[in-house]
Amino acid sequence: MRAWVVETPAPIDAGPLRRVERELPSPGPGQVRVRVLCCGVCRTDLHLAEGDLPPRRPRVTPGHEVVGVVDALGPAASRFAVGERIGVAWLGHTDGSCRYCRRGDENLCAAPLFTGWDVDGGYADACLVDEAFAYRLPESLADEAAAPLLCAGIIGYRALRAAAVPPGGRLGIYGFGGSAHLTAQVALAQGLRVHVLTRGEHNQALAKELGADSVGAATDPPPEPLDGAVLFAPAGELVPVALRALDRGGTLAVAGIWLSTIPALDYAAELFEERRLRSVTANTRRDGEEFLRLAERLGVRATTTAYPMADAPRALADLAHGRFGGAAVLVT
Ligand SMILES: [Zn+2]
Ligand SMILES: [Zn+2]
Repeated sequence: MRAWVVETPAPIDAGPLRRVERELPSPGPGQVRVRVLCCGVCRTDLHLAEGDLPPRRPRVTPGHEVVGVVDALGPAASRFAVGERIGVAWLGHTDGSCRYCRRGDENLCAAPLFTGWDVDGGYADACLVDEAFAYRLPESLADEAAAPLLCAGIIGYRALRAAAVPPGGRLGIYGFGGSAHLTAQVALAQGLRVHVLTRGEHNQALAKELGADSVGAATDPPPEPLDGAVLFAPAGELVPVALRALDRGGTLAVAGIWLSTIPALDYAAELFEERRLRSVTANTRRDGEEFLRLAERLGVRATTTAYPMADAPRALADLAHGRFGGAAVLVT
């Protein structure tokens, strides 16, 4: 089979990915093999290709928003049938026994395996997944529309809950790409007032189209104080900006796995009055199940730009340079 690998992490325009020929992998105990139909392109893939995220394994295949069809079952795998369409997401495995897993925080597991970082992901013709960590996908969702839900959607949903906006409250969204445009739809459907602060014409246009209550530049003050905000842009310099936009007692949740350096904070203006700053780390399977059900019920729709699997480097470069709105999806 063909698979993209991160050969040597480098700026995306220098070509860190290479397409190689590999043997079709055989599923181990509890695993299934998935024939990839499509795979979403997540900013984490870009961080991995460029070396912001240190590689955990040499020549790993990126991709953790995989929609595919089960084509082989490993020993003792019984959850899915051959031919069934499933989704493969970022959280690939947890030990189930560490203190975090035991208290229900498997997203913080001390010994996790992540798809497309520790184990090969979906920028390939096929990949393996531990069946306990795969998702059934709502039938109403087309392949290409379902892919971005599997990381962008799930992580955004966890970040939205972390921002702790009360019913009918005011939410700020900083940065408006793949994850944010899905999160905004959930927030709007739940009756929040949504203010989008972002750069980029595509992103601002998409935010307006989806019905955001206001759209401004990333460093603009929102038109009203915020009960909570989510920072999707990987830009540490926006942390103080977003904290200043919070009302008393408000929470800023940082959704990304990587953030540039946060400048020094001004305690009185940015943190006092019980403003909170917190991060979001991966997700639990429960977050995933909950979000996929909600996405179906609320009619959350991903805006996607399709690229052939052969053009994975171009899709990542376009993401790096903000050349499309919504989410890119690689199609085999
Ligand atoms: Zn654990
Ligand atoms: Zn991701």
